[in-house]
Amino acid sequence: MARYRGPVCRLCRRAGQKLFLKGQRCYGPKCSFERHSFPPGAVGSRRRRRPTDYGLQLREKQKLRQIYGLREEQFRRYVGEAERKAGVSGETLLQLLERRLDNVVFRASFATSRPQARQLVNHRHLEVNGRIVNIPSYLVKPGDVIQVRDNSKDITPIEQAVAAGAAGGGLSWLEVDSENRNVKIVGLPARKEIDAEVDEQLVLEYYSR
Ligand code: SF4
Repeated sequence: MARYRGPVCRLCRRAGQKLFLKGQRCYGPKCSFERHSFPPGAVGSRRRRRPTDYGLQLREKQKLRQIYGLREEQFRRYVGEAERKAGVSGETLLQLLERRLDNVVFRASFATSRPQARQLVNHRHLEVNGRIVNIPSYLVKPGDVIQVRDNSKDITPIEQAVAAGAAGGGLSWLEVDSENRNVKIVGLPARKEIDAEVDEQLVLEYYSR
């Protein structure tokens, strides 16, 4: 299935919550969800029936997939990997998603959104442990150091994101040095530090049908 290319604010309205897909705009008064929090479509959509169990599972799955901007096949692979690993599958799934390089760049506030972080990675602005990595899905691990390349440290998107402190920072698993534009991975994210408002158990149930 191809990546969704339509208006992303519709995804927030359909999910019934802000998914933060548009960078700075998501934090200001221009956020579409703030102005129209009802689902997109006809006025009649406000009279929707109570969702079925399947509907709830599908909604949570779509929400999580859209937050991280993944295609269905990619997302399914993460679910499979989480289920194969020891531990609580739901938390493992979220940790795998959080460990993606594009997500870490966003969490470190070097980008105002995950799509922008993905573009920075694709355009070779980032190094991991001193080597250029242009794969957004690259999984970082404790001990890794992610560094903005010297020539890219002051490009406008990064400067703006750092100035805005886009993702909030303050995460115990990341040691961010905004001035030098690097971030060290010092652990794995705990569930309470992952702000995705989803029920990951329902996501797993969706794939176990
Ligand atoms: Fe969602 Fe951001 Fe659009 Fe608001 S501005 S509806 S949070 S994508």
